[in-house]
Amino acid sequence: MTRVHILATGGTIAGIGPSQVDPAYRAGGLSVDVLVDAVPGLRDVATLTGEQFSQVGSQDMRDDLWLALAARVNTLFSADEADGVVVTHGTDTAEETGYFLHLVVKSEKPVVLTGSMRPATALSADGPLNLFNAVSVAADPHARGRGTIVAVNDDLHSARDVTKSSTTDVQAFVSPGPGLLGTASYGRIRYFRHPTHVHTRATEFSVDGRYSLPRVDILYAHANMPADLVRASVALGAQGIVIAGMGNGNVPAGVAHALTDAAGAGIAVVRSSRVGSGDVGRNIEVDDDGLGLVASDQLNPQKSRVLLQLCLAHGLQGRSLQDAFYRY
Ligand code: GLU
Repeated sequence: MTRVHILATGGTIAGIGPSQVDPAYRAGGLSVDVLVDAVPGLRDVATLTGEQFSQVGSQDMRDDLWLALAARVNTLFSADEADGVVVTHGTDTAEETGYFLHLVVKSEKPVVLTGSMRPATALSADGPLNLFNAVSVAADPHARGRGTIVAVNDDLHSARDVTKSSTTDVQAFVSPGPGLLGTASYGRIRYFRHPTHVHTRATEFSVDGRYSLPRVDILYAHANMPADLVRASVALGAQGIVIAGMGNGNVPAGVAHALTDAAGAGIAVVRSSRVGSGDVGRNIEVDDDGLGLVASDQLNPQKSRVLLQLCLAHGLQGRSLQDAFYRY
């Protein structure tokens, strides 16, 4: 049987509530063994091993945990200890962890992130079926070469494209633009497409020997946004700034001036959008060429931050940065 290793990081899928019908709960309380034992037939899908990587709500995911998680996945594959990996994770930052792994795991073997919207103790908990489907995908030879996949609520998303779009619905994840990678129904997997952009072994990014990443701040744009937020970010040591801009990555004129100053001082500035879907185009309403700014293309602010951190860690600047936002 195919060997699937589960790395449990916490989240609602391991959450414990006071009763089956109380929306309050504590994320990440249950161990990986308890999660596996709650899923009937899971041990018939693959030869399972598991490991408690962390026990955090994913709002507490950090750069050092991402680096350690990616290093662990790379070791599992390079030492041929697993044919596929499942990461159980909180849903809040699953899209960021997933995209990070999508860019730095150096293997064709599948990495599948899953989580749940309802805690393990809730009525109609969604975690067990999500875990069943995730293990099924990780054990599926046809998942190879598709990068990191997020498996939730019977849908398969490319980690590059997926975003959380509801705070509470069980159907919380969407892939605006490119759409679903596939579906999973009680372990029956269908794929609709391959990832649209470069990932895993084909990227220039490596986590080998890295224990930290450059500071990149996200600033949320709005009517009357004060420009001194940009200056504060620079003063606090940000090496990159991602703007969650209005519409097509726009900011008020005063903020644009502050961003131009920051870019002139060597801070990488990426214009993304707070809208949630659609592209941010280069040189549309903003003269990116003249001001030295980067357009995020299809990446939302939180994914732009992940990519920018990796780009800065690898010394990419200027036009190379813009090319990276088109390529990844
Ligand atoms: N904030 C928690 C987390 O991301 C709960 C969200 C969830 O897992 O659904 O871990």
